[in-house]
Amino acid sequence: MKVLVSGASVAGPSVALWLGRAGHDVTVVEIAPALRKGGYAVDFRGEVFTTVLDRMGVLPDLRSLQTGGSGMSFVDAAGRTLMRLPPEFAGGELEVLRADLSRVLYEHSRAQATYRFGDSIAELREHADGVDVRFESGVEDTYDLVIGADGIHSVVRRLAWPKERVVERHLKYYVGGWEVPNTLGISGDDSLLYNVPGKLASVGADRRDAGLAQTLFVFKSPELTYNRRDLDQQKAILREQFTGLGWHVPELLKGLPAATELYFDSISRVSVDRWSTDRIVLLGDAGYGATFGALGTGTAVVGAYVLAGELAQARGNFRAAFDRYEARLRKSVTTTQDGSRAGSFLAPATRFGLTARNRILDIPFFNNQMIKMAQKMSELIELPDYSGQEGKLVQE
Ligand SMILES: Cc1cc2nc3c(=O)[nH]c(=O)nc-3n(C[C@H](O)[C@H](O)[C@H](O)COP(=O)(O)OP(=O)(O)OC[C@H]3O[C@@H](n4cnc5c(N)ncnc54)[C@H](O)[C@@H]3O)c2cc1C
Repeated sequence: MKVLVSGASVAGPSVALWLGRAGHDVTVVEIAPALRKGGYAVDFRGEVFTTVLDRMGVLPDLRSLQTGGSGMSFVDAAGRTLMRLPPEFAGGELEVLRADLSRVLYEHSRAQATYRFGDSIAELREHADGVDVRFESGVEDTYDLVIGADGIHSVVRRLAWPKERVVERHLKYYVGGWEVPNTLGISGDDSLLYNVPGKLASVGADRRDAGLAQTLFVFKSPELTYNRRDLDQQKAILREQFTGLGWHVPELLKGLPAATELYFDSISRVSVDRWSTDRIVLLGDAGYGATFGALGTGTAVVGAYVLAGELAQARGNFRAAFDRYEARLRKSVTTTQDGSRAGSFLAPATRFGLTARNRILDIPFFNNQMIKMAQKMSELIELPDYSGQEGKLVQE
């Protein structure tokens, strides 16, 4: 089949790898002019995720790039440590930078798929024989299937799903992250986190380049109106929210104007009543995502595996494959992709909330319980084995 995938971050290259390997003619369109860099470290917890990465053949590359995890030191304005969480709290079993993950998936898939950067779907028209697509560049083509792997604000979802079938919930917080020179001399062992009520400013060293560091800022806010393609506007929002704060915040904000990549988004969750139409299907954050604080990356990788596996098993009956893909995953991803506690955990809204969080998590028993909970979540996903199916999904 001729398949168009929208989005080249995690879900898109993952599904392109499987479908390309199975012999489909795959094109991936990405709105950014090149593979996007940036983003914090993402982690995989539990056997389900590492098993899929292993079956994809990308695990050795990812292991060679893993960060090793770092602790999280919550500090006061004078830099004194108030509470420290161990590396296993945020790092999981395998932690890599999101950009490294994306690049490895891209490199493993690009021999079997055509990547088109700097373009986006402008129009979709689904009919009995295929989906007619017009791109923003003016190019037109027809595909058998279209996969929306273009993130929480998916253009595929916007074009093909009526508004009333989609629920987008703003979870009261925003998150922003950008790269800065490591002028503060932060070591790779711990990232530093500074709070005032409703806000978090944090910075962690890039463990492979001591001269660089990555910020992560979180703030509580009602829904804001801004242009998602306008980086300057997003930078201005961050500046406005954090100007006047102490600690190293002024120094970290200084690096903002020069940042060419900025990850800025509301912490929100999306759900659709059904993940597919006749020939169009949603994958990863586009269909069942929560920005931040959920198991988004692992879920996107598993989603790609199950979608491609069901397509191989259904031998051309893509409708049945889409239904089985959703039936297998909907219940577990609804639980794992909650995301509603991320904002209030990182930036509690009150002084009392901040003190309570620090006191509770300072007790090893409680932070161990949280590590175990995250592990248990990933075990909710039941992993089918598609080996031996037509299309040879397992690398030989
Ligand atoms: C630059 C970046 C930084 C991130 N940083 C973090 C982080 O620090 N922490 C965290 O928890 N999560 C982060 N995420 C989100 C995380 O990658 C996802 O939650 C998760 O990995 C699921 O991946 P996904 O492929 O479904 O969606 P995403 O990773 O969101 O990828 C969607 C892709 O689609 C592309 N796209 C968007 N619109 C269009 C369009 N109209 N046409 C074509 N392509 C389009 C985007 O540029 C992106 O490459 C980041 C995502 C990106 C893109």
